[in-house]
Amino acid sequence: MPFKSPYPRLDIPRTDILTYLFPPNTTPSDTPLWLDSSNPRHSLSPRQLLLWVKRLAVGLDKIGVKSGEVVMIHTPNHIFVPVAYLGIVGSGRVFSGANPVYTASEMVHQIKTTGATVILSHPTLAKTAVAAAQKAGLPEGHVFLFSDEENAPMDGVKDWRSMLGTAEEGERYSWHRMSEEEALQTVATVNFSSGTTGLPKGVSISHANLIANIEQTIVMRYDRRPYGAHNKPPERWIGFLPLYHAYGQCYTILMNVKLQVPVYVMKAFVYEDFLRVIQTYKITDLQVAPPILVMLDKRPETVKYDLSSVKHILCGAAPLSKELQNSVSRRFNVVVCQGWGMTEVTCSGHHVPGGIDDDSGSVGLLNPNTECMLLDDDGKEVAPGQPGEMYVRGPQVCLGYWRNEQATKEALSPDGWLKTGDVAVVKNDWFWIVDRKKELIKVNALQVAPAELEAVLLEHDEVADAAVCGITLHGEEWPRAYIHLKDTAKGSLTEERIHAWMKEKVAKHKQLVGGIMFVDEVPKLASGKIMRKIIREWAKRDAVAL
Ligand code: AMP
Repeated sequence: MPFKSPYPRLDIPRTDILTYLFPPNTTPSDTPLWLDSSNPRHSLSPRQLLLWVKRLAVGLDKIGVKSGEVVMIHTPNHIFVPVAYLGIVGSGRVFSGANPVYTASEMVHQIKTTGATVILSHPTLAKTAVAAAQKAGLPEGHVFLFSDEENAPMDGVKDWRSMLGTAEEGERYSWHRMSEEEALQTVATVNFSSGTTGLPKGVSISHANLIANIEQTIVMRYDRRPYGAHNKPPERWIGFLPLYHAYGQCYTILMNVKLQVPVYVMKAFVYEDFLRVIQTYKITDLQVAPPILVMLDKRPETVKYDLSSVKHILCGAAPLSKELQNSVSRRFNVVVCQGWGMTEVTCSGHHVPGGIDDDSGSVGLLNPNTECMLLDDDGKEVAPGQPGEMYVRGPQVCLGYWRNEQATKEALSPDGWLKTGDVAVVKNDWFWIVDRKKELIKVNALQVAPAELEAVLLEHDEVADAAVCGITLHGEEWPRAYIHLKDTAKGSLTEERIHAWMKEKVAKHKQLVGGIMFVDEVPKLASGKIMRKIIREWAKRDAVAL
């Protein structure tokens, strides 16, 4: 029998995300909700945001972007990213965020996979975007500069403000309010994830998925039934999680509007700036990934700042040891608790209910309306208390992979169960993630897909075969490659040359920091599939020796 959420069934509104956030007959507030952390006078209130959103919707109409077409955003965080997100999604187009550190070839993969027709790229990154757009065959003029201020054209690339509708046109614009059926079926965002296997794929998240996950998370944070209500204090958040990722989007573009929580947006993550922003603006709640907790716990700069305003830290996106959780909790006298999430479940599936001071390393309870099964290798439910691969079903589970039926079939059963690739145990409704069965490597909580790195290695003329997997060194996970060289390359293709090759092709977090080992053969099944279990055993063996 599947595990069911202990929470009462939640009645989730079924409409489009813009109508949900800005319901008819309500007046959007004038209180700043997105504030530039380096200059908080530079801010956007919901009312201001909505006008920009409508002007962008008019602009996209003018340049001929059709409903259902993908617009790609390629920028570090800034206060106008929520405008782009809601302007694109709210007007029936599809948002896809690219990691700003991507190389041109990584962007080409995303442009081709999504079929994006327009790219909004930060001026500091626009060269990469233009190169990628050219390689992907996008017509000229489909890349726009996109930052929080007006930019002069750069090498013929115009600023996004040049295509917006006027303020009057924006005021007159009204978006299409979706029916229940449309909200369930219309894709809002296509963020990238490799899922349990293969290359990074676009994950189709509907308007209904977004709304469901916001509603569920709000219950988990504040209603906390069956644990009694936890009052929502006035909160202040910090927006440093990347806005191309589901975690940042859910909290600091969407949920903060519903809860009217101001977010101090950081354009770049610099640790001391992060501490300074917390101290200066008396940030009350942090949403983080484990590397931030490591910094809070270990970096000497931490003690220079008063962080006493922080009452609650939510940690997700990668495994967190209970030792680190408890060390941070004790040191700062704050509640540190976890949630479990995945791009394929919009953002989250489980949470420790807000305010509960968990010290056990649990990822908490199932969100309302969410079910879970733990299965063994034969697809049978495991005995109580035993670890099993987690399958999740609920209204936040994605529609599938964008234009990829095969991958969708492999990840989602016809009756809605999502294969997560994570191994969990459950006791009295509480879940612990104990292992990861899928290929995915998480570096600094960012996804790295072994298949992608293997493909890049195989592009090298002198590589005969390659397998990549994660290796854990000093508590952190890194990609490690096992490479079979062509006979002609032996002795000449050195580790240094391979590192240089990877540097040219993929972003920093995908570099082979876990090392390279030359092997005589990459173990494979007759079908040609890499025997990943063996590769993982090699990495475990090597981690001990290194
Ligand atoms: P992403 O799609 O980038 O959010 O990555 C999702 C993956 O991150 C999950 O499938 C897990 O492997 C990992 N993950 C997320 N949250 C947790 C957590 N609290 N504990 C352990 N792993 C996690």
